[in-house]
Amino acid sequence: MSGHDIDLNVSPETKAVLREVKRFGMEVMRPAGIQLDRLADPVDVIAQGSVLWDVFKGFRALGLHTMQIPRACGGLAEEKDPMAAILIAEQLGYADAGLAISMGVSCMPFNYAAMFPTPEMQQLARDFCADRDGRMIGCWAITEPDHGTDWSLGGGNLKCGPSVKAVLQGNEYIINGEKSAWVSNGTIATHALLHVSLDPSRGMQGQGLAIIPLDLPGISRGKPLDKMGQRPLNQGSIIFEDARIPKEYMVIPYPDFINASSGQGLAMVNGGMAIVFAGLAKAAFDEAYAYARQRVQGGVPIIEHAPIKLKLMKMFERAEAARANARRMALYNLANPLAPSVVHAVAAKCLSTETATFVASEAMQIFGGYGLAREFPIEKMYRDARASMIEDGVNDALAMKAMEYM
Ligand SMILES: Cc1cc2nc3c(=O)[nH]c(=O)nc-3n(C[C@H](O)[C@H](O)[C@H](O)COP(=O)(O)OP(=O)(O)OC[C@H]3O[C@@H](n4cnc5c(N)ncnc54)[C@H](O)[C@@H]3O)c2cc1C
Repeated sequence: MSGHDIDLNVSPETKAVLREVKRFGMEVMRPAGIQLDRLADPVDVIAQGSVLWDVFKGFRALGLHTMQIPRACGGLAEEKDPMAAILIAEQLGYADAGLAISMGVSCMPFNYAAMFPTPEMQQLARDFCADRDGRMIGCWAITEPDHGTDWSLGGGNLKCGPSVKAVLQGNEYIINGEKSAWVSNGTIATHALLHVSLDPSRGMQGQGLAIIPLDLPGISRGKPLDKMGQRPLNQGSIIFEDARIPKEYMVIPYPDFINASSGQGLAMVNGGMAIVFAGLAKAAFDEAYAYARQRVQGGVPIIEHAPIKLKLMKMFERAEAARANARRMALYNLANPLAPSVVHAVAAKCLSTETATFVASEAMQIFGGYGLAREFPIEKMYRDARASMIEDGVNDALAMKAMEYM
């Protein structure tokens, strides 16, 4: 990433892959993210000809979408050194955190599909691995207009249950309800990993999990969401009105199974967030360090002034702590997919997102007035980081939930 990185002694092959990812990140993702962020209307982010599609194509061309899918379905899961997967995700977060999340989420339904040994799901995962153009795009549809934190906390309050409901009728489920405007890739996704209520009498504990195509009759989308941070990340609602899906698409029709395995999902999602936003913390530090060496005040580069030096060192300290912690957690959880550490994953998500916000805010201070100017990347990094403390669960809510796994 930059001159002040410790060599982690990964293999020459991994170093070669990381060089390619860095090139893609800094030559394609970073400029695309800046361009997309400046578009006033989020509809233009996803328009034909938008640079967003270059990012999708570049990500697919490198085969990064297949990293968590086993060889049997055409993926690279067994080929990659686990540290490579972690460093790749960090590098993508370094380049542009919102786009890194978009790319990660775009794989979610297909990564899950590969885990289910039915012919439909295995074929779906294979088709996804073969897609080098970005035709198949996934989303994770969990939050609802009336239920955000309720999903993070789960819990036994029977008055509060999911509003998207699936009812079994013969060989089909009939789905009704709405997923919120916060669903990442919501208006461009072709497939969803969808959380539904199967047994409303059990509140949030009565859920099922489906993997579905989104071009079925009865499924429509809202408008792309206009927001403060991570603007290149498309978001929007998905509406279900008597949408019928074959019974087989409900890959987990057993609420008890989901309740027993919800820790794995929490660890996976929070683990990914931790790595991506540790990458953003490092990016904000690097920008501030470079600026402090060239901006002259009082006749010397501002890095010569003790308060700036101390500020930079504190930012470096925190960014390095977040990166080291995220990597350690992710290495452990990748090696223990059936019994990951939820507390470590959530702790790392909170630490990385809070660190990214702190470092980007301090970087803005070091840039002075220019920190607020759109011609420099800092104000965007700050907005992107700030969103992450709410993204995929408000940090406080995730922390409350994680304590149940301590
Ligand atoms: C950038 C971004 C990307 C996202 N991507 C996705 C995605 O891909 N898929 C998806 O489904 N969702 C996604 N989300 C949605 C996200 O998960 C929710 O925004 C989050 O869970 C919070 O829900 P909410 O916004 O409805 O806030 P609310 O639940 O309304 O919470 C509002 C405030 O009240 C607090 N609060 C709520 N309930 C309690 C309680 N019981 N005890 C104490 N405090 C409480 C919260 O901590 C928060 O501070 C994304 C969000 C963002 C910002």
